Parts: sequence; structure tokens; C-alpha cells
Amino acid sequence: MGTRNGFIETIGNTPLIRLKAASEATGCEILGKAEFMNPGGSVKDRAAWWMIREAEKNGTLQPGGTVVEGTAGNTGIGIAHICNARGYSCVIYMPDNQSPEKVEILETLGAEVRVVPTVPYKDEMNYQKQAGRYAQSHEGVVWVNQFDNTANRLAHYESTGPEIWEQTEGTVDVFACAVGTGGTIAGVSKYLKQQRADIQVVLLDCMGSALYNFVTTGEAVMSEGPSITEGIGNSRVTDNLAGTEVDWALQVSDQDMVAMVYRLLREEGWFFGASTGINVCGAVEVAKKLGPGHTVVTMLCDGGGKYQSRLFNEEWLAEQGLHVSQVRSRLEPVSPLTLS
Ligand code: PMP
Repeated sequence: MGTRNGFIETIGNTPLIRLKAASEATGCEILGKAEFMNPGGSVKDRAAWWMIREAEKNGTLQPGGTVVEGTAGNTGIGIAHICNARGYSCVIYMPDNQSPEKVEILETLGAEVRVVPTVPYKDEMNYQKQAGRYAQSHEGVVWVNQFDNTANRLAHYESTGPEIWEQTEGTVDVFACAVGTGGTIAGVSKYLKQQRADIQVVLLDCMGSALYNFVTTGEAVMSEGPSITEGIGNSRVTDNLAGTEVDWALQVSDQDMVAMVYRLLREEGWFFGASTGINVCGAVEVAKKLGPGHTVVTMLCDGGGKYQSRLFNEEWLAEQGLHVSQVRSRLEPVSPLTLS
């Protein structure tokens, strides 16, 4: 691979990893794109760089300027790293229902973090809208606007999609992933379907999100929640998601997700966050529906370290009605993973 020149060049070109038990249980190749290996630790490093680079190119972001964003955390972490690497200041708005670890990381990276009450998107005090207003009311500040800034999906069209195509040598049959902004599913699926129109795209949704209903009924109506997942699920179709060709959608419950992340941890040594658990559950379910011999690619979005106080805290999980004990025993590779 040679050397990589600094932080920016270390973004992307992540490995594609075969998930052992999931592949053996289904007779399919279940492959995970190792986005947790990006230098800021998540899939959002790619989008953060593409959006900042776009603002540099179009002249809205000037040397020494300030970047503001509303984020569940990972985009903010990517942005904060890039701001340090390129000499910008960084202001981050986050809803107060996210893991405290992400706030701490952002503060360590030097971002000014504004944790605000969690309110729906339609509320003017929503974290995304507050970030937008901050940029309007301050000179020299650029709002990244990851939900509706399509440089986000372009990152995945220009980097993640081509990488998956090359790494599978064109054998990928299905791309399945959960959606936050929609940048990942939109960019990757567009690129893959341009290579081979029969590649199927599956949107995986957590509970308490409107996207499953949107794909299946055409109306963005929220499903019953809540979900402890972070960074995924949405109440609306963003500009990034709009126009994406989705073949089908699946809902994955938090209990199945918890079972999966602990199983990956205890049986295979992986330490992943909740959205990755949703993704691997979904990929397994898709593989079971299609039958053996298919190649299913999903995203390993981030690592588990940011969720120690929640997803990896059994007391906290129990307070949410979720239980690890159900998955403590070693499961046979052929045991079905029941999805709601
Ligand atoms: N997983 C995690 C942990 C995330 O932070 C995000 C981004 N919010 C996603 C998945 C979803 O990615 P996208 O925004 O590209 O839909």
C-alpha cells in the first residue's frame, strides 16, 4: 500500500472484511467495509472531507475560517480532525441523547461543542437548524449541512463505491446498509448500479425511523421506537437520499442488534458500534432470503469504544429493556438470527 501523506490521504481505501460466522451461517460471502479504520474512526470521515474540500474549492471556506455542523457525533469528529489538519476552527451542535464519549472526543479535538435539547427536525431548536443559524449570524463561518449537502453522497460515489466494486472484483450482488444522512447508501448504490444494473440495494432501518415506511409505502411515517442506535434513522428524506434506487427495506430491532454486536465481540474479536450491528443483522437476513452463493456487502461504520457507557454497559442496556444474557452462550453458526 505504500505510505499515505497525512490525515487527509489516510481517509478511505479501507479493507473489505469477510465476516466469518455470518458467511458460514448463510453460505454467502458477507463482507464488511471497514470504515471504523478511517483515521477519525468512522464512515463519516469521507463525507467530512468531501464537504470541506467542496467549501474550500467554491471559496466559501477561507484560510483560518470556521466550520459549523449539526451532528450525532461522527461527522463532527471527522470535521474536527480535518479542521485541525487544515487550520480551521470548529463548532459542533449535538443533540443531548448521544453518547457522552463522542462529546468528550470532540472536546479533546478542540471543537467548541454545543449540546442542545433533543427535539424533532421540524422544531426550530433542532440541532441541525441551530447549526445553520450559527453560520448565518457569524462572519466567515461555513455550515457543512451534511443532510442536504450532496458532496456527502459524492464522497461515497467517488470513493466507497469504486473501492467495493474493485475489492469484490465485480462480484457484489447486494449492498445493504442503514441510513442517517443517506450519503453512504446513495453514493455507493449509484456507483454500483452503474457498473451492473442488477445489483440490489437494501435499506436497513432501525426502529423509530421513517425510512422503512418510506421505501415500502412511499410515505415517510415514523415507525414505533425508540432505538438506542446513534447516527442512523431519519424522519425525512434528505437531499442526499432523494433519488436513490432502493430495491427493498428491512427493519432490525435493537435486541437483534445487541445480540449481533456481542456475538461479533465474543466470537470473532470485533468491537463495533450499534449501526454496524444493524448492518450485519440486515446483511444476514438478506443473505438468508437470497440463498447461498451470493455476495452481500455492508458497512462496518464505527468501533464500539464510543459506546462503552451505553451499548457495552449491561446495566444501562437493561434500563432500556435490552439484554445481553440472551446472547451470552455461544451460538451455533447455523442458528437463525431472528429479525422483527
Ligand atoms: N453509522 C454511524 C455510526 C454514523 O455516525 C452514521 C452517520 N450519521 C451512519 C452510520 C450513517 O451514514 P450516512 O449518514 O452516510 O447515512
